Amino acid sequence: MEFTVETEKRLTTVDLTDRVRDAVASDIDRGLCTVFVAHTTAAVLLQEDEDRLRTDLENFFSELVPDEGHAHDELDGNADSHLRASVVGPSVTIPIENGSLAMGTWQSVLLAEFDGPRTRTVSVTTVRDGAE
Ligand code: ZN
Repeated sequence: MEFTVETEKRLTTVDLTDRVRDAVASDIDRGLCTVFVAHTTAAVLLQEDEDRLRTDLENFFSELVPDEGHAHDELDGNADSHLRASVVGPSVTIPIENGSLAMGTWQSVLLAEFDGPRTRTVSVTTVRDGAE
């Protein structure tokens, strides 16, 4: 299934955990859940959803990749967004155990927006463990 997320800033993170939990089919006891974005300037990661850490993450990505000075900027001015998204990647896979996401206590599913504000589409796919 899919859902959309409205991001509010150029570089920000959005907690998707509740929406991903809701998307996991209730009849899967054990399996895998993949959260994927079909975008080149947004990404998905597992990390602690804590306000100061989210600020740290935003600062980290800003410092990791300079805002300007890239070849692709001649085309549409957002090479920094593509490069930041490349570092994180477009998906995460989470085990499903006993019918629910088997994430660590401090793990949340975060959308990383690198070229907002935009409407992003998040795809959640679950598969049952064939050996279940
Ligand atoms: Zn571009």
